Amino acid sequence: MPLLEAEGLFKHYALPRPGVFQARPVLRAVDGVSLTVEAGETLGLVGESGCGKSTLGRALIRLVPSTAGTVRFGGEDVTGLQGAALRPMRRATGVVFQDPFGALDPRMTVGRIVAEPLHIHGEAAGAGARVAAMLDRVGLPGSAAGRYPHEFSGGQRQRIGIARALVLGPRFLLCDEPVSALDVSVQAGIVNLLQDLQAELGVAMLFIAHDLGVVRHISARVAVMYLGRIVEQGGKRALYARPLHPYTQALIASVPALTPVGRAERRARRAGVGADVPSAMEVPAGCRFHTRCPAVMPVCREADPVLVDQGDGQAVACHLYPGQ
Ligand code: SF4
Repeated sequence: MPLLEAEGLFKHYALPRPGVFQARPVLRAVDGVSLTVEAGETLGLVGESGCGKSTLGRALIRLVPSTAGTVRFGGEDVTGLQGAALRPMRRATGVVFQDPFGALDPRMTVGRIVAEPLHIHGEAAGAGARVAAMLDRVGLPGSAAGRYPHEFSGGQRQRIGIARALVLGPRFLLCDEPVSALDVSVQAGIVNLLQDLQAELGVAMLFIAHDLGVVRHISARVAVMYLGRIVEQGGKRALYARPLHPYTQALIASVPALTPVGRAERRARRAGVGADVPSAMEVPAGCRFHTRCPAVMPVCREADPVLVDQGDGQAVACHLYPGQ
């Protein structure tokens, strides 16, 4: 049984009417996603900005309510839970946010920040020792507990955020672009730390990034998201060695170190998806990638492809492959 399982998950936002007689536009942030995360595994979730990755991550751990579909955590349907009924799930899930500057309350000491989840969940006894052990585990000195967030660098603040997210010993960790706001020079240190902690603590992770290069080392499986849908998912090795979906191919081509193709071909592949991402309020009919796809066919403009397993657990939603 997977630790986390989403089935047909939707999260739509009705926006304000642009005019008195006009309908309210609907932003389809998550538009029919089914996925699983096994206990102790890391699933990488990749896609361009605005494709719905963060909303999906938040809907999966019930930080935002979904519009339709089901979320199961530890086998329990948690989709409709609210208030106190959600507390066990809150305790079992942690979040590392993208912005290590905005995620920490500047008026609180680091010790209080990391201890806060323990107090919220009635585990204040022994909090000092648990906070000290956690700070040590993320590579910060014990003296950090008495200092304030502004006294630390971006990378150190992200370590504080990781300590807070893990202090309760969660079973699932949502890492929402945890290194995008950091200098390239410190990104690897944070990714390595998360990878070590994942292995040591056995916590499952959903690691969100807009760059396939970042998730490559940390993920066992990768899901590629485009305009609210998963368009390809599979084991890391297969997906990087043989990306099936034209969008995945373009993402991989845009990470120079990941591909053996020449510079000219990389440029050509990128040019194939150079058009702007369509708005999530006006999702194209048929395959939602057809307005940018270099391999588009007439059927793509009419029929919406579904994810079909092509073997070895690699699934793709594209008319180029069997099963549509
Ligand atoms: Fe391209 Fe058609 Fe495949 Fe969509 S279904 S990715 S438009 S080939």
